[in-house]
Amino acid sequence: MSILKVARLGHPVIRKPSKPLTAQEIESPAIQKLIDDMIETMREYEGVGLAAPQIHSSKQIAVIEVEGNPRYPNMPRVHLAVLINPKIVSRSKDLVEDWEGCLSIPDLRGSVPRNDALVCEALDRFGKALKVEAHGFFARVIQHEWDHLQGDVYLDRMRSLKTLSHLAEFGRFLARDDS
Ligand code: ZN
Repeated sequence: MSILKVARLGHPVIRKPSKPLTAQEIESPAIQKLIDDMIETMREYEGVGLAAPQIHSSKQIAVIEVEGNPRYPNMPRVHLAVLINPKIVSRSKDLVEDWEGCLSIPDLRGSVPRNDALVCEALDRFGKALKVEAHGFFARVIQHEWDHLQGDVYLDRMRSLKTLSHLAEFGRFLARDDS
């Protein structure tokens, strides 16, 4: 496995809608290796999710995992999920504001409204159909990664850029004490 270079905001791949995969592509050794590399890259950089455009591949693949992550210490655990060609098929009406960061927009946090719950249909890494019902932080991460696959980033979803903060200042002034 390899740790891949992360594309940052400004690289055109971050703004390009990515392509769905065929069943044949999903089972190919190249895509299987890409998925392994995405998981390793997410863990290396302490992300809770990573979408393929973030590693310069314009394909509809996202990986998500929350396991004692030091960047998001108080968030509930989410076991490793590989979502291919994901579709958000329903969303709850209620929007919840919370902080997000992004490996492609380093050292910043902003407050982003997201639907509190959703249902996502996708394929897993073996091409098998998955239906994921998520709420709270997991639902937030799915929306963040799904946005990447459309060429959107969390900044596009913020109601106002006034909460945008450097990570160090966020830690000093804005981090919630929910311990
Ligand atoms: Zn991101």
